[in-house]
Amino acid sequence: MASQGRRATPLPKGWARIRTRILKRDGWRCRWPLAAGGPCGEPANQVDHRVGAAQGVDDHSDENLWSLCQWHHDQKTGREASAVAHAKPPKARPAEAHPGLIN
Ligand SMILES: [Zn+2]
Repeated sequence: MASQGRRATPLPKGWARIRTRILKRDGWRCRWPLAAGGPCGEPANQVDHRVGAAQGVDDHSDENLWSLCQWHHDQKTGREASAVAHAKPPKARPAEAHPGLIN
C-alpha cells in the first residue's frame, strides 16, 4: 500500500497512471545515484519527485519524477524525522597516560 497521507501538496490527477509510466520508464529499478557511481538498481516501487514540496516546487513532469526503492524513498522522505537515527558517540574512555610518560 502506498502511504501518501502526509503530503503537503495533493498528487496530480491520474497519478496512478503517471506513477506506472515512470516505473516502466525506469525499468522498475531504483534510480538513486550511489556514491560509488551508477544507480542503486534495486527493484523500485516508489515514484518520487526529485525536487518537491520540501523545496516549494510542485512539478509533476516526467523529468522531475524518478523511481526509487522503498529504502531510498524512506531515506529521502525520512531525513527530517530521522533524528533518532543518529547514533550516540561511544562513551569517552578514561584518559590513559601516554606510554611515553610511564616510567
Ligand atoms: Zn535504491
